[in-house]
Amino acid sequence: MKFSGKNVLVTGASRSIGAEIAKTLASFGLKVWINYRSKPEIADRLKEEIEANGGQAALIHFDVTDEEGFLGGLKTIIDCDGGLSYLVNNAGITNDKLAIRMKTEEFMDIVDANLKSAFIGCREALKLMSKQRFGSVVNIASIVGERGNLGQTNYAASKGGMIAMNKSFAYEGAARNVRFNCITPGFIETDMTRVLKDDIKENYIKNIPLGRFGSSKEVAEAVAFLLSDYSSYITGEVLKVNGGLYL
Ligand code: NAP
Repeated sequence: MKFSGKNVLVTGASRSIGAEIAKTLASFGLKVWINYRSKPEIADRLKEEIEANGGQAALIHFDVTDEEGFLGGLKTIIDCDGGLSYLVNNAGITNDKLAIRMKTEEFMDIVDANLKSAFIGCREALKLMSKQRFGSVVNIASIVGERGNLGQTNYAASKGGMIAMNKSFAYEGAARNVRFNCITPGFIETDMTRVLKDDIKENYIKNIPLGRFGSSKEVAEAVAFLLSDYSSYITGEVLKVNGGLYL
């Protein structure tokens, strides 16, 4: 994989898909800023693992729902590295329940955590990357943002909004060589899906043409492609990483 840029910020990177994205991008020679909001010891172990494998990593603590914290984190990166080549908006949460039982705050909390945070990241990245006339952003959306899902009106709205927002950012960034793309994972084996009951998992698997959940590594490699020079003529796109679940 070829990268003209030097560094990347991955939000929510201390565990699961984010951690795998961090390791994969470091293995391609990028300096990775590992954003975490809790459990600094886990983030620290990830940094050590990347460095033990010859990569470069740094920790950056903030909660993506805290705008000031996000802006402060970006300032630290710019002060240290002089620029930001790539951003991966990965941090995300769920809080599932049927719509008729969902309080408005429970809807808005997920939209804030997943969509508003990604907006802040994309907007700030566009400002910074426009000055450099170079940059690439990947937003981690979801298959649920493409087709909806029972019990996930809040999550579907946040991820569907992300897909539409990404296209608008792609239009705004194109003249300055700043690209925006989305990945829509299907079911990936992580802490987020580990909570699903076995019978529900088996039911999902029956409908996945490739016959299994995906791995964080498979998402991370798709992210690397969309950030890299290998996708230099791709922007505003949605890349499904879902084993054929939604064709
Ligand atoms: P996960 O196992 O629950 O991990 C989420 C990560 O995001 C954690 O590191 C968490 O940090 C961090 N995070 C959450 N809220 C944050 C905040 N406000 N500020 C900073 N960091 C925050 O989830 P995952 O499965 O790896 O999912 C990663 C992304 O992929 C999410 O956007 C998710 O919606 C998307 N996705 C996942 C699947 C799937 O099947 N797993 C499918 C489609 C899309 P803490 O350790 O502090 O909680």
